[in-house]
Amino acid sequence: MTSRIRIRLAAATALLLAAAAAWLAFGTTKASALDGDRATTADELLTNVITDVDTYWTKQFADAGLPEPRVSYQWVPTGQAAEYHPDDDTIYVSEEFATAIYNGALDQALPGSSQGYGSAAGDFAVAYIVAHEYGHQVQDELGLFERGIPTKNLELQADCYAGAWAKSADQANRLDPGDVDEAIEAALAVGDFNTSNPGHHGTPEERSNAWQTGFQADGPAACNAFIQS
Ligand SMILES: [Zn+2]
Repeated sequence: MTSRIRIRLAAATALLLAAAAAWLAFGTTKASALDGDRATTADELLTNVITDVDTYWTKQFADAGLPEPRVSYQWVPTGQAAEYHPDDDTIYVSEEFATAIYNGALDQALPGSSQGYGSAAGDFAVAYIVAHEYGHQVQDELGLFERGIPTKNLELQADCYAGAWAKSADQANRLDPGDVDEAIEAALAVGDFNTSNPGHHGTPEERSNAWQTGFQADGPAACNAFIQS
């Protein structure tokens, strides 16, 4: 059984024109995520990250004797930010959203950052979000969505998975100085305090701690702690 993930990266038109300028300086003023793959466009950064994350999970699944997760790419216009749809095995990430994260346009606008927790900017903030969404695909392949696990537990496990992938990139010397801080700050920034909402994803501290748990662990199995109550 092989599932397919279609990565839909928005190529939205008018709104992207302003954002495009930010990307022009991308390759020259700041290193991209994943040393050796210097991205110059949103497409390239997102493609580099998803390819690296997919390579990581392909190895993890192979080591566990599980079928290989397979990724294909499709660029389509969409206004969505970033989410995973289990019904069609698709991660939706818009270039517009990724650009706004990268250049800091959403720095103080996210649930946590708007209340003074963390900040979202830089290539590894984008990488954290993409790796988190890929983590939901891993959960789907592992059958975790059928187990009635609370949303917050699944979200924190996906954050932990993102950290576990980042550790693998770090061990291969493919992170730039500051990347780890960018991910931790972004995890704080997307946390929220709406704890009475069934869709609550975790507080800034919980989300940041989950990412760091994965980053410090010896493999993604440590992330199972988040779905055991
Ligand atoms: Zn999520």
